[in-house]
Amino acid sequence: MAIPLPREDLGLREGYHSPQVDVAVRLNTNEAPLPPPDEWLAALAAELGEIAFNRYPDRHATELRRALAQFHGVRTEQVFCANGSNEVLQSLCLAYGGPGRSVAVFEPTYALHSHIAHLTGTAVFEGQRRPDFSLDLEAVAELISDRSPTLTFLCSPNNPTGLAEDPSTVRAVLSDASGLLVVDEAYGQFADWSALSLVDDDTPLVVTRTFSKTWSMAAARLGYLVGPEQVVTDLERVVLPYHLDAVKQAAGRLALRFVGEMEQRVGLIVRERQRILAGMGRLPVTTWPSQSNFILFRPDRHKGENVWQELLERGILIRNTSSWPGLTGCLRVTVGTPEENDAFLGALAEVLS
Ligand code: PMP
Repeated sequence: MAIPLPREDLGLREGYHSPQVDVAVRLNTNEAPLPPPDEWLAALAAELGEIAFNRYPDRHATELRRALAQFHGVRTEQVFCANGSNEVLQSLCLAYGGPGRSVAVFEPTYALHSHIAHLTGTAVFEGQRRPDFSLDLEAVAELISDRSPTLTFLCSPNNPTGLAEDPSTVRAVLSDASGLLVVDEAYGQFADWSALSLVDDDTPLVVTRTFSKTWSMAAARLGYLVGPEQVVTDLERVVLPYHLDAVKQAAGRLALRFVGEMEQRVGLIVRERQRILAGMGRLPVTTWPSQSNFILFRPDRHKGENVWQELLERGILIRNTSSWPGLTGCLRVTVGTPEENDAFLGALAEVLS
């Protein structure tokens, strides 16, 4: 007996990991800088005592989905929940991708869209964004008509560039799409407009969201999708039985009692984002406008790689995107607490001086 070799096509791909380094200021994975409200933790602790841990959890996460449906003004049957929005994306690829099928992505964008597609044996067709990272709608239409992907991914606001798509762009892609249009709104609460307004049972569009960012619950691993009932039914067929544990279901449902607190945090992050952008405006860096909780920038005179390393040596971890296709020399910083942002701005000024 010997350990078999893994699938040959896996050898072509590295895992997708952001380094987890133990430093004072962690601004590399777009998490929320503040913990969830104490009242949420107290409510969750109280509910833990109610959970029948010897039993499997509600397989359909009915109460959580009902609460999310109410929050978004849709029906429970139009909501699908999973272990982080990454598992939502994986479920979409499992249900609609696979051998002989394809997805379309527009680079640079969230790397997991193509990574998960590859892992599920789905071909990936890559279109390129314009130099300012906006979508070239003619190129999008051409790629979709040439390749007929079953899934077309948009990310709005786009990670790692920060730009949000406007309604006319999403509508245009939707009218071109040959299959299902997936709008990844992991950072949706930071943007002015949401594609959620386009969701109905007859439109081949889904919107994915997460509790990892604005809800300050990255550790809970909870994400969801809002879309046509038929899609939710299809996704339920590919997930493992009882994939959402009871604690997570309660955590998400209870979080929805604290919408006001969540919105306050979004407000703080948006104000801090503008403050960081203003601070960076006085430094030799190029920045891109952001409707998210992170900022993409490129040092004008220094190598991105070196700046990343020197910030790390000062106890500040940001995302090194400098070798990513289309992002040569660029770095991405997550908006943190005011103190963390001050530390970042101070260290960046020092490194660039
Ligand atoms: N989509 C985008 C665009 C993201 O940036 C992330 C997190 N980095 C995710 C989805 C996944 O988030 P989670 O699995 O934590 O819900």
